[in-house]
Formats: sequence, structure tokens, C-alpha cells
Amino acid sequence: MHDYRLVIDGEQVAGEEGHFAVIDPASGSAFAECPAGSLAQLDRAVVAARAAFGAWQAYSHAQRCEALGRIADDIEREADELARLIVREQGKPLALAHAEIGGGVAWTRYAASQEIPVETIERSPTQQIELHHRPVGVVASITPWNWPFMIAVWHLMPALRAGNCVVSKPSSLTPLSTLRLIEIIARHVPRGVINGVTGGHGFGGAITAHPDIDKIVFTGSTATGQQVMQAAAGNLKRLTLELGGNDAAIVLPETPVAAVAEEIFQAAFINMGQTCAALKRLYVHESQYRELAEALADIARRQVVGDGLEAGVTFGPLQNADQLSLVCELVDDARAQGAEVLCGGERLDRPGFFYPPTIVIGVSDGQRLVDEEQFGPVLPLIAYTHVEDALRRANASSMGLGGSVWGADEAHAQAIANRLESGVAWVNCHAQIQPNTPFGGCKMSGFGVEFGLQGLLEFTTPQLRFTRPLPSPAAS
Ligand code: NAD
Repeated sequence: MHDYRLVIDGEQVAGEEGHFAVIDPASGSAFAECPAGSLAQLDRAVVAARAAFGAWQAYSHAQRCEALGRIADDIEREADELARLIVREQGKPLALAHAEIGGGVAWTRYAASQEIPVETIERSPTQQIELHHRPVGVVASITPWNWPFMIAVWHLMPALRAGNCVVSKPSSLTPLSTLRLIEIIARHVPRGVINGVTGGHGFGGAITAHPDIDKIVFTGSTATGQQVMQAAAGNLKRLTLELGGNDAAIVLPETPVAAVAEEIFQAAFINMGQTCAALKRLYVHESQYRELAEALADIARRQVVGDGLEAGVTFGPLQNADQLSLVCELVDDARAQGAEVLCGGERLDRPGFFYPPTIVIGVSDGQRLVDEEQFGPVLPLIAYTHVEDALRRANASSMGLGGSVWGADEAHAQAIANRLESGVAWVNCHAQIQPNTPFGGCKMSGFGVEFGLQGLLEFTTPQLRFTRPLPSPAAS
């Protein structure tokens, strides 16, 4: 069994609070132990990051990019082992875990290729004014359990690229792939530049309140994001908050069902629905409601549910028991209010946290399954009569991460998408992301963006350089 370690000041160390168990969601039993760090170790990690910052920010852009390139090479080399570890701790099928690692490599290489521009605002004989971007300092990354490796990459690589030093804290439910990632990064950067800590209850709060951390990049639930924001006020930490979503999709009348069903299914059920920007509420015109629901249920019934390491499995377990309970509760609540469950709808009678892909019809806004983020393998379909009404209901959520509109008339679909209250509005697709396109939410889904130039600049602080020449001796 791999001996997982914290990384503090370039050293791999044991946790001073012992260990905690990491559960395999396919069996419901512990499969590994994670070191539990102490708050004193957290302090040491912050001190190390602060001490390393002076030298790391003075590295040239080319040196930092080169280090990221070498990190990407190592991730690629160790992809098989990392992907298997992701399946064990997170539950997703192996092919998807490989996609997660592949995404990690792609995002790392992209960060390695990015430039940090200097904007010339004025250049005249009397003055030169430029806008520069300096690293923020010590950044803390706090990540969730759904895409543990890839989200850590999203946080760490741009932070490092921009010249910050980092303390990373993964979710206690899926800490191991992140500890392995940090181990890889630590090979290629000076000691203290990257630190990885894991700990028990109260660790996240201790990070967000820490007076010597300058920025928090946080991905997780809205409720925790609110706590992060409150705790960060002490020293006015910079924040990027990527929080929960309840993405709506509107299928316009006369959309060819066969052309969209598979894509809609994948957008809703990717990672067993445990994806922030998965499609979570589907508004379908009444004329096509039954037809699309049946098409989605057919695809759902074809999924092979099982342990992600078994050949042929396309659909894994949920990641944890609490998430499974929430999904059971929301579907039972909808059923009790008269909803029809076309397929799935019950947890599987086997060890592990298995719940099959589930299509629910006869539901509407005002019911928990529609109003709350289910973050699991259930898609509620809501019938509408008028597009304007569907748009109003899509926007009625307090969340604003993503949204989509589907239809053959692209101009019409774009016009509706333009009115979605969300950080991303997709047309004829959903949950599509790529390294060069800024991604982030509005309303209670958070603020700030990741990816692209804007995402990189979130790890910098602007500095205006205003230079005037001294008067020449002849003129004085
Ligand atoms: P969570 O909020 O429970 O936990 C996220 C992280 O915060 C974990 O590392 C956890 O240990 C830590 N944490 C817990 N309490 C804390 C505190 N008081 N202060 C600081 N950190 C604390 O979220 P989760 O259940 O791990 O993840 C699921 C949620 O994440 C969903 O709502 C999902 O939509 C959201 N999410 C959003 C995005 C996005 O990009 N917007 C991406 C992935 C997941």
C-alpha cells in the first residue's frame, strides 16, 4: 500500500494527528489511510510558502513555464496509477478517470504556455504608464471530492504559473490523488513553493482564517463558500469562489429528439451527475416531453452500473453515503408528490453507494428535486407550454453557474441563451469547458473565473507602473 504523506517545505512528512480512513465508494469500506495533519503543520506549511515566495516570484516566466512542462510530463508518465487511484477514492469509471488525468495534463500544459501581459496605457515623452500583474503571495487551494485531481490542477497550475506559493487542502473524502499530484509538483519546484496538507474537522476553517494567506481559491458548496467568505474577511483575502449550481436546460419546440438525447444524457449524468455544471433541470416543450423522456430513459437503461475498475462498466457509484442519502431523499420526495420514475429510482441492493441513472417526469418547480442541487444521477424533466415561461423558471434559481438552450434554430436559441442568468450559456451543448475559456458562476454560484487569461489573472494583483523621466540637466 502506498504510504501517503503531507508535503511541507519540500519534505514528505507524516501527519501529526495520525491517520483517517479513505473509503472506496464501490465497496463502502476503507481501502487506504490518509495522514491527518495538525494545525501546527498547517502553520509550518504557510510559513514555508511565505519563505519561498520571494525567490519563486523572481523566477523568470520561462523558468516557471518549464517547471510546469516537466510536471505535465510526470503526470502523463504516471497516468495509469493515478487514474486507478481516482477510481478507488472517487468512484468514477476508469475511462473517465483517465479523462480526468488527461484534462489535468492539458490544463497544466496550457498554464505552461500562458503569457502574463503588460498593458501599455500611455507612452509619451513626459510619462510611461503600464499595467503589470504581480503574484498575490501565498494562495490556499481548497477542493471538493467530485473531480479531485482535475480541480486541484485547475487551482494549482495557474497559481504557480503566476509566481505564487501554494498550500493545497483536498477534500478529506478524496485526498490521495491530490497528495500524489503535490508529490509530483514538489519534484520540480523549490522547497516551500507547493505544500499539501490534509486534516480533520476544522482544517478548512483554519486555512480560511489564517492571517498569512493572501488568497483562497475554493471550489465546493455554496454553504461552505459563504463560510469561506466570512472567515477570509480578517485580512481581506482575495477570493475565487466556484460554488454549487443547479443548471437548467431549455429544449425549444421542434428540436429533433434523436439529435440531442445522447448529448443531453451525457451532460446530465457525467461523473454520475456529480459535476458542478452538469445539466440538473431539463425544461422540455409539452409536445416533445414524453418522447425525449423515453429517449433519455433508454440511454439510462443501457448503462452498465458497477465498480469503475471492472471492464465494461460505464456508470460508477456515488462518491459518499451522504450524497447517496440526499439523492434517495429527493427522488422519494418527488415520488410522494406524484412524480413518475421512468427508470432507476432506488439504490442498488449491494455494498457501496450505487444508484442507477434515474429519469423523473411529472415534476415541477417548487419541488425539492427541481429546486435543490441534487448532485447525483437523477434528471428531472419539467414540461412547459411557452418558452418565455421556461426561461422565467430557469432563471428563478438562486444559483447561476451554467445553463443551455437546445434547438435547430440557432439564432433563436442564442437569443434565449443571451437571457439566461448564468456564468456560462451553452447552445446545443452543456458542461463544455476548455483551458482557454474563462469559466465561473454568478449569483450564489460564486464569483471569479478559472481558465483562460482572466483565470490566470485571478492569481495576480494589478500594479500600475507610472514612470516619469527626470528633467534633463540642460532643461533645469
Ligand atoms: P464542500 O463545500 O462540502 O467541501 C469543499 C471543500 O471545502 C472540502 O475540501 C472541505 O473539506 C472544505 N471545507 C469544509 N468546511 C470548510 C470550511 N468551513 N472552511 C473551508 N473549507 C471547508 O463541497 P463538496 O461536497 O466537497 O463538493 C460538492 C459541491 O461542490 C457541489 O455543490 C458542487 O456544485 C460544488 N462544485 C462546484 C464547482 C464549480 O466549479 N463551481 C466544481 C465542482 C464542485
